Amino acid sequence: MKVCRFDDDRVGLVRGDVIHDVTGVLAHLPAVPFPAPWGDPLIAGLASMRDTMERLADDAPRRAVGDVRLLSPVARPSKIIGTPANYRAHADEARQDPEMARYAAAQGRPIEEQGLFLKAVTALVGPSEGVSIKFPDRRTDHEAELGVVIGRQGVDIPQARALEYVAGYAVALDMVVRGPEDRSLRKSLDSFAVLGPWLVTPDELGDPQTLGFTLAVNGQVRQRANTRDMLLDVRRQIAWASTFYTLYPGDILMTGTCEGVGPVRPGDQMQVEFERIGAMRVGVRAWSRPDTR
Ligand code: MN
Repeated sequence: MKVCRFDDDRVGLVRGDVIHDVTGVLAHLPAVPFPAPWGDPLIAGLASMRDTMERLADDAPRRAVGDVRLLSPVARPSKIIGTPANYRAHADEARQDPEMARYAAAQGRPIEEQGLFLKAVTALVGPSEGVSIKFPDRRTDHEAELGVVIGRQGVDIPQARALEYVAGYAVALDMVVRGPEDRSLRKSLDSFAVLGPWLVTPDELGDPQTLGFTLAVNGQVRQRANTRDMLLDVRRQIAWASTFYTLYPGDILMTGTCEGVGPVRPGDQMQVEFERIGAMRVGVRAWSRPDTR
């Protein structure tokens, strides 16, 4: 099953190039108490609402995938967890790139010593919202990554059972401003976590460690790899993260990027494509002050 969120927070099932509007399923979500529990209610209810969604989809209004504004399939994660330097060739390029190496003494160390990092959840957007460049005089890089969405609460999850905690997979962009500040600050600007184009459930995706992927900027391929080249696989990342903190439904794991990271500027178009998930197009624009009235 492929689930998307689109336009004004509508929920869709994606079948081929068609989105079936199953927004009616939201009526089955529990009333929200105060305070709301951690995590994303739609993702938390996905397993139990799955049959309802499939049934609704058969008679639902249809839209072409290309005609909607795709939002992040997860609306309210409690955490966005990042894994650094999870592909050997990217770790090598980070050491050799003068700008990345100057600031990142830590990046020469193994992942287990660096640890995971967190991105602010307010950085999260979907592909239609695009990435905005807040500091045009500094280098803002793309990092194409497999996004893993947690489906149920867990702590100290055994590696052998880690994939049972996955609600689905999506394409992720871990955007970053290069520089001397702490990584969590430089990776948490508004729009610096892109997730899309939809969530693919594990039964449909199969093995998450056999996915070829590419990222192109303005049609030029810059990143190309396969998730089999991860140093820490998805199982180990989930298990490791859950030794530090409880994982909640909707938590997003950005599983690290491969070689070929590079800068983007306003006007650029990124296209990120993962086998068995799909492709998302993400525009880059200059930052402008949001209307906060
Ligand atoms: Mn990354």
